[in-house]
Amino acid sequence: MRFSGRTQQVWDILVEQDRFTSAIEIHRMLSSRGENVGLITVYRSLHALAGAGHVDVLLGPDGHHRYRHCSPAAHHHLLCRECHRAVEIYDSPPGLQDLGFVDDSVRITLVGICDECTAS
Ligand SMILES: [Zn+2]
Ligand SMILES: [Zn+2]
Repeated sequence: MRFSGRTQQVWDILVEQDRFTSAIEIHRMLSSRGENVGLITVYRSLHALAGAGHVDVLLGPDGHHRYRHCSPAAHHHLLCRECHRAVEIYDSPPGLQDLGFVDDSVRITLVGICDECTAS
């Protein structure tokens, strides 16, 4: 996938991550690579990518939106609340269809602590 200018740089960072990443974190990563990109520009790029459905977005308990380059197929998330690493889940939660829901767009996020964070 190709985007214009700064959006491409933000996209490249997201593609490298398996975590949900905030605009502030992406801004920090770009800065550490010597890229002089404003935080507002990062926010705008993320907003555009999320609006076009290219990235998933979650609102964290700290009030920060976090973004992840996910597969385009409908899925749910297992999310680590410490490092924001996420795993995509394709099985439907039990009982969903019994309730009459077709889960082609239903996104459920289960929050826990991943094995790496438990070990440390
Ligand atoms: Zn996702
Ligand atoms: Zn973790």
